[in-house]
Amino acid sequence: MVAVAEMNTTRTVLIIEDEASIAEAVAARLRSEGFAVEIAGDGPAGVEACRRIRPDLVVLDLMLPGIDGLEVCEQIQADRSVPVLMLTARDSEADLILGFTVGADDYLTKPFSSRELVARVHAILRRVDRARADVGLGVPAAGVHSAIGHQQIGVVTIDAARRVVTRNDDIVHLTPTEFDLLVFLAVRPGTVRSREELLAEVWGEPMVSSGRTVDSHIRALRRKLGSDIVRTVHGIGYAIAEDDADCGDDS
Ligand code: CA
Repeated sequence: MVAVAEMNTTRTVLIIEDEASIAEAVAARLRSEGFAVEIAGDGPAGVEACRRIRPDLVVLDLMLPGIDGLEVCEQIQADRSVPVLMLTARDSEADLILGFTVGADDYLTKPFSSRELVARVHAILRRVDRARADVGLGVPAAGVHSAIGHQQIGVVTIDAARRVVTRNDDIVHLTPTEFDLLVFLAVRPGTVRSREELLAEVWGEPMVSSGRTVDSHIRALRRKLGSDIVRTVHGIGYAIAEDDADCGDDS
């Protein structure tokens, strides 16, 4: 059913989970929401299925036999950027998932309700849709459209139209969420944004995700782009470092 993945109307979700009962329950709920769903029972099968069906989103269990979820996430992200909702056994694993450079967009701790899972899936897809619609405009919420067509922050360059970020001329792979977070902060360098503001503007779902999700994604940005890219303003939030250099005239 490769054609399903090509259609605009039906979204395809790939579930990579070795516990069949969980996989089936999640699949049933997502199908009832109108998604096309495929299940892979281990890491290698998941990587293969991801290449084959090119899903719109992957629900990925962290603890998998063979290769674990972190490595699966890395492998599927190597081919193309795909949003990932990670399933974990413990809440303490959240930092591991979101902080590592593997590129998960959000996580859910087991046991979770299928209602919550569906809410997260919809939230991630809305974010990705919004990001695609905004290509070339930068982040709309700040009302600064063309301000970040092409922006330099130290050794980091953001090409918002192409959604490409480089560091010392090397392309850095960011997840859709990391990219949106970076661009939103970069629209106004030096301006401090609170976690609540970032959740509302970047995630669009302040009630679904927590401030810790923001912290973890900031850590991921620092790991990928250098620790000085984002400044922490204690008790307030985060800001992109102001650059003394010319910020690039688009003309
Ligand atoms: Ca498992």
